[in-house]
Amino acid sequence: MNIVVQKFGGTSVANLDCMQKVLVNVRRELDKSNKLVVVLSAQSGVTNRLLALSKQYSPNPDQAELDSLVSTGEQVSVALFSMMCKDAGIKTRSVLGFQVPIVSNSNFTRARIESIDEKKMLAMLEEYDLLVVAGFQGVDEGGRITTLGRGGSDTSAVAIAAALKAEVCEIYTDVTGVFTTDPNLCSKAVKLDKISYDEMLEMASQGAKVLQIRSVEFAKKYNVAVHVRSTFCDEPGTMVTQEDKSMENILVSGIAYDKDQARVTLTDVEDRPGISAAIFSPIAEQGMLVDMIVQNPSKDGVTDITFTIPRADLKRTVQILEQNKANMGWKEILHDINVAKVSVIGVGMRNHSGVAAKAFQALSDANINIMMISTSEIKITVLLEEKFVELAVHTLHDTFHLDKR
Ligand code: ADP
Ligand code: ASP
Ligand code: MG
Repeated sequence: MNIVVQKFGGTSVANLDCMQKVLVNVRRELDKSNKLVVVLSAQSGVTNRLLALSKQYSPNPDQAELDSLVSTGEQVSVALFSMMCKDAGIKTRSVLGFQVPIVSNSNFTRARIESIDEKKMLAMLEEYDLLVVAGFQGVDEGGRITTLGRGGSDTSAVAIAAALKAEVCEIYTDVTGVFTTDPNLCSKAVKLDKISYDEMLEMASQGAKVLQIRSVEFAKKYNVAVHVRSTFCDEPGTMVTQEDKSMENILVSGIAYDKDQARVTLTDVEDRPGISAAIFSPIAEQGMLVDMIVQNPSKDGVTDITFTIPRADLKRTVQILEQNKANMGWKEILHDINVAKVSVIGVGMRNHSGVAAKAFQALSDANINIMMISTSEIKITVLLEEKFVELAVHTLHDTFHLDKR
């Protein structure tokens, strides 16, 4: 049985017209005698509306109930689309996360997939030509509904493709592929024909929301090629695959930005062994991702520690720090939400020096102040004032001539 897995994002299923386009696509695939699994997101805007609704009823909602609520967005999409497909004479059914089941851990609102019952899916595919699966949702061992974090339908799709051993997972979205930077922010952005898993991991982790980072982790681990392409036109998109020689020759392949950032500083922390563990372990235990960390040289036995965290996690992070103050011994917590990250990414950086210096010079020429810096083998990230994001992205895109790719 040749199985194709396709995912359609929120804008692709936004209304009846859009769903009709998805139906044309599905037809074309079924006409090739393939069995098809289609993973759908909530219609665009729905997840945000449900999150806002929860806040009206509970200022700090119970995370398990929040997942029960927000997962309904995807349930609506799959039910509506399956109805349309049935009317069109297709043998199909909708499948919710718990019906597969897609089993996750119990880290509500950011759960990780632990297993997928592929045998049950294969059995369903014997009976149906098309399975319409709700993205973004899973079920924990206790039978409670979980969700996989914002953008999680990408991960549902790639995980299903891996479980069913599909060669490719097609991610249909509102842009024609992965670009050198967000095409909605920078009109000079150029579409990439291919990008390595590692570069895409960095792009996604640094804010390029075209793919959720965990979907790329799954794709790399199980060697699933991911084809990112548009629902609204037929041109080939971008293949996210293993690195090849031609990719190494390219110094910089993309610029990513992330406005969903907050900066936290703990002042006068005692400089002794174990202090970083005392600060960061309780935050990590809550599943929150600390990113850039800077510790200043100590003076009189105390130092300042600064780190960044997703903006949505700031309140909980401050609560955790306050609850654990006795073990940490800081004097004051300072925080700032008017910050953003901009990153330069490229596997070619492994073998070439000077990229960081060139980036810093370009930002300085544009009068942009850098607050923090972090690097990996294939990435340079700077933290700056949020108001400079657009200018920084344009400046770096020009500096590395990405419009000539
Ligand atoms: P979907 O609803 O289909 O999952 P998303 O909104 O999650 O779509 O992701 C697609 C969006 O990602 C694009 O509209 C674009 O603004 C944004 N984006 C950010 N960086 C990039 C990039 N490097 N290439 C393509 N799109 C990007
Ligand atoms: N509906 C969810 C979100 O908006 C999941 C997704 O679209 O991938 O984040
Ligand atoms: Mg998305």
